[in-house]
Amino acid sequence: MARETESEALKKLKSLCKRRGIIFPGSEIYQGFANQWDWGPLGVEMCRNVREMWWNRFVRDRDDMVGLDSSIIVNPKVWEASGHIENFNDPLVDCKECRSRFRGDTLLADKLGGDFDGRPLEEITRLVAEHDVRCPSCGGPLGEAKKFDLMFKTHVGAVEDGSSTAYLRPETAQGIFYNFALVQQSMRMRVPFGIAQIGKAFRNEITTGNFIFRTREFEQMEIEFFVKPGTELEWFEHWQQETWDFYQSLGIGEEKLRWREHDKEQLSHYSNRTADLEYYFPWEKWGELQGTASRTDYDLTQHQTASGQKMLYEDPATREKYIPYVVEPSFGVNRALLAVLCDAYAEEEVRGETRTLLRLNDAMAPCKVAVFPLSKKDDLIALSKPLFDDIRKRWPAIHDIGGSIGKRYRRHDEIGTPYCITVDFDSLDDKAATIRHRDSMQQDRPSLDRMVEYLDDKLGG
Ligand code: ATP
Repeated sequence: MARETESEALKKLKSLCKRRGIIFPGSEIYQGFANQWDWGPLGVEMCRNVREMWWNRFVRDRDDMVGLDSSIIVNPKVWEASGHIENFNDPLVDCKECRSRFRGDTLLADKLGGDFDGRPLEEITRLVAEHDVRCPSCGGPLGEAKKFDLMFKTHVGAVEDGSSTAYLRPETAQGIFYNFALVQQSMRMRVPFGIAQIGKAFRNEITTGNFIFRTREFEQMEIEFFVKPGTELEWFEHWQQETWDFYQSLGIGEEKLRWREHDKEQLSHYSNRTADLEYYFPWEKWGELQGTASRTDYDLTQHQTASGQKMLYEDPATREKYIPYVVEPSFGVNRALLAVLCDAYAEEEVRGETRTLLRLNDAMAPCKVAVFPLSKKDDLIALSKPLFDDIRKRWPAIHDIGGSIGKRYRRHDEIGTPYCITVDFDSLDDKAATIRHRDSMQQDRPSLDRMVEYLDDKLGG
């Protein structure tokens, strides 16, 4: 994304995502709604790639992990015990002139650098005044910081009163904690072990934005990894390494990733170490992709106290009983995908023209192979369709028969298809087809009956 302002780069990415069926503005025919976005046909495939890579790596390929899928709306006592009802809020400041509302901590971070997440309201109010932080919309003065609850409320059942109030979950983690004993006993898991969950979460964020970076509905991939007290910091490092490797496997360049440790002021009172994995986004700021937190026995103890149900683990070898400590690596699907897209977006000059492409790695590409019959003539389709049918048995593929070959290449460069195969009139005689690689644009001409083998060599899977 060279030679232009980064916000232009984000605009270009948004426009590509819309015209190529990756991400659409939510309820667009009604002028959109609250920075909601919908995954288009190719975006949904990319999301599945992220989820599947995560699930395979962290659940299927490990002996010490099991999965779970808990409910979105649960007994509100869960949120009392977890501390969300009391503490899950952001410091809201509003403009005294135009009435726009902002997060006080992010306004301070924008003006002063650093991180003000978790600072008390009085401190935010004082710093905003001291540093003359002003309304980003109109330049007007800002009022005092107030508590703004982030959980979406709803009512369960026919009566809408205080007793029927429930919440949309703001994270998937609590479903894992309240199921801890059931999972451990039913699956006869031994500490150290983890429980993983992928699912939607909802937060009534004060401000959203930067495309799909911050939305009010999003998807998390969370692990609670239960360990013996005293071993948590070793496991913390294990999960940092695993996290780093996971984002590498999505094809994100190392130079745009970094860990940011939470300092004492930012650290939650129950955590003895927390670090965020950050990516350098095209709006020229580092933003959190993933958080790894060593949360001690806080969550299980809270649920044990609130529910009266034991969350103890008994070591079968030593008979020692304890509440396990937990290390939580918490990932976001949306932000992972945004980082993948930002990293893959490229423009290059080819014979005096600009070629736009997504340099996605093969695992992330929503379509791995496109097959183009040079024309719609029956004899070419009779060759290309069976070839396509063979290929689609192995990899997500598209039989693309419309438009000039140049246009078809452009379309597939823009959605990151690694291999495009053209079946032309020579194919009728030599029973071979031209295959072109997206990045190098190099071409090869294997025979049709060797094409799947050829692709297998390149793509595997
Ligand atoms: P932030 O500081 O950006 O608000 P957070 O520290 O509150 O994030 P966590 O509670 O640690 O976020 O959530 C874990 C992960 O869930 C984040 O790393 C991110 O990938 C994802 N996530 C959290 N909030 C949002 C959101 N509003 N939109 C999209 N993804 C989100």
